[in-house]
Amino acid sequence: MIASSLIDIGINLSHDSFNADRDAVIARAVAAGVVQMMVTGSSGPSTRQAIEMARTHPGRLFATAGVHPHHAKELTEELLAQLGQLATLPQVVAVGECGLDYFRDLSPRAVQQKTFHRQLELAARVRKPVFLHQRDAHADFVAILQEHRASLVGGVAHCFTGSQEELTAYLQMDLAIGITGWICDERRGAHLLPLMSEIAADRLLLETDGPYLLPRDLPAKPESRRNEPSFLPHIAATVARARGESLEQLAATSTAAARRLFGLPSL
Ligand SMILES: [Zn+2]
Repeated sequence: MIASSLIDIGINLSHDSFNADRDAVIARAVAAGVVQMMVTGSSGPSTRQAIEMARTHPGRLFATAGVHPHHAKELTEELLAQLGQLATLPQVVAVGECGLDYFRDLSPRAVQQKTFHRQLELAARVRKPVFLHQRDAHADFVAILQEHRASLVGGVAHCFTGSQEELTAYLQMDLAIGITGWICDERRGAHLLPLMSEIAADRLLLETDGPYLLPRDLPAKPESRRNEPSFLPHIAATVARARGESLEQLAATSTAAARRLFGLPSL
């Protein structure tokens, strides 16, 4: 079953696990109705790779430019200046992924916070939306974001897995919400189902976050356990069911919302 056009707003296509068959992954996505994809930049090198992919697949792939909180301690003044240049390129449609991750704590929290501030300033400067990551750091995340919100053109809370309170806080900050296959996990994603109808259609975006977060209830799981954009219609169907609407309806509104927020062209 192919829905009308979907957009995967978060695919880590520079990940090594895609090295052998990246073009086939893109072709499978397109065949499944995933017509455009945003390749996540999460470090200096992965941002450059994402931009290169967007250059070679114009109109199909787009890039984000940023440093994930795991890599926060890599953000030197030099890299920040480079990101500032890269973020102005037409292939780059958002700054990030950036934010706070106190679950893994791979960079010290103070460094994560400073790196987050710098990237929010950068996004305001280049007038592009932010691609936000938050895990186990809601209070600090909201406090920092609030300092910058008025100067930002917009943003998405990517891979939202939080509570009703967290959702309300993000919606009040006028953020879009990115939903992944986490919602397909009956053990840890069930709480998300009733929240879906609280998100206005023009704020709801879809993403796989592949190669991570393979939907647990996929009828035929790949042996590799690798998640990829061709599985986005499965996630979309789960979200549509939770909202009591058709897949076609959700596809139309979420695709329009993604194009509006990130300035993506229609195909
Ligand atoms: Zn993330």
